[in-house]
Amino acid sequence: MQTVREVGALRAAVAALRGDGGGIALVPTMGALHAGHLALIAEASRHAGHVVASIFVNPTQFGPNEDFEAYPRREAEDAATLKAAGCALLWAPSLEAMYPSGFATTVSVAGVSEELDGAARPGHFEGVATVVAKLLNQVRPDVAVFGEKDWQQLALIRRMARDLDLGVEIVGLPTVREADGLALSSRNAYLDAEQRHRRRRFPRR
Ligand code: AMP
Repeated sequence: MQTVREVGALRAAVAALRGDGGGIALVPTMGALHAGHLALIAEASRHAGHVVASIFVNPTQFGPNEDFEAYPRREAEDAATLKAAGCALLWAPSLEAMYPSGFATTVSVAGVSEELDGAARPGHFEGVATVVAKLLNQVRPDVAVFGEKDWQQLALIRRMARDLDLGVEIVGLPTVREADGLALSSRNAYLDAEQRHRRRRFPRR
């Protein structure tokens, strides 16, 4: 499995995979991978011959008081996990590759961005829509797979893909949970035993 960090290298690597036939599926992530992400990879491989995973901790979807700096980053371990899962390519863009100096464009999806999480986290869904639009344009996959855990995000991505004629099939996958019902999340690493216990009381949320 190759890791690429610049758009030119990505395009060349994706073109080579396309040449082999079988189609391309993309699984976007922010890394610190767990069994939920691996379920998305497995689903992606049911839809296409080659799976491309991306790891990018996207600063524009974090609010000023959120955990961008603290968000877990363990790319070497993630790359080994992705390779073992059969991924063909890891797209791990540098910040500069994703947001070159002078970057000025934002994708905003009305309605779905404004409710619930969107109301509580101003700018979050614009950050998500913009980075996912970019990831889809960079890789140009046939299929992209996302978790229903982030259902509002999934609804927004489906809307955006339709509205912008992105020509990609968006596939959603049910949430993978721990035995105690807690949804797997990269952020669970932050939880201590007491916090885990409290979250378990709301296992289906
Ligand atoms: P993240 O790395 O947390 O940004 O998530 C990347 C993708 O994995 C998103 O499409 C998430 O919805 C999905 N995902 C995260 N956790 C889970 C889970 N427990 N089960 C299924 N999908 C998940």
